[in-house]
Amino acid sequence: MAPIARIAMAVRAVSEAAAGIKLVYKCTVPNTMAITFDDGPFDYTADLVKLFKKKNAKATFFVNGDNNGKITDYATAVKQAYLDGHQIASHTWSHGDLATMSVGKINEEMNKLDVAIKKIIGVSPTYMRPPYGSINDRVTKTVGARYTIVMWSQDTNDWQHVNDYKKSLKVYTDNIKKANGKPGDIVLQHDTIQMTAKELAPRAIDYAQKMGWKLVTVGECLGKPKSTWYRK
Ligand SMILES: [Zn+2]
Repeated sequence: MAPIARIAMAVRAVSEAAAGIKLVYKCTVPNTMAITFDDGPFDYTADLVKLFKKKNAKATFFVNGDNNGKITDYATAVKQAYLDGHQIASHTWSHGDLATMSVGKINEEMNKLDVAIKKIIGVSPTYMRPPYGSINDRVTKTVGARYTIVMWSQDTNDWQHVNDYKKSLKVYTDNIKKANGKPGDIVLQHDTIQMTAKELAPRAIDYAQKMGWKLVTVGECLGKPKSTWYRK
């Protein structure tokens, strides 16, 4: 885990209580699991959209405006993901650490991406994930007032295992057991990594489905209707 994520974890409990905002870590609907992809769109996003369609599964894409790729260069992939019923959510414009920013700068990071996403899919997201999972009181209050803040309960650390899908897949096989009416995990991986798109994701989908999990968007795994995932 990156040091910044470790620090962020320590302040999370304090920030939640202080701001009166509840962060999302896990699904609430029985037998559902949410696979999430951060840091795109990038070269592998379109492949993942195709893969999920083939496997009859849904995902959530926490996209950036200008990170590994520029969102305008991947507009087709983002639009297709949206049309296929995946959830498009915000991961901020530039993937900076929100906890180091002023309220004005935080809002700029959110609003700039909202505008760009709206140009592509016609609506803006109401769900977001802070880069590095890094938050403080100011971030939680500023962002939490307008967005559902989504963390994760399982981290595949795929960015550390770019040449070895087995290490990331182990997160599924070690921690994700039979559904059996339980609410499932929100799993973190990245659509910016070739290994994730080509090797990890297909196996992860197969494993989760074999264990009886329905792979859905974060919104759906929280029991929230699609109309609430976006604003006009
Ligand atoms: Zn990220």
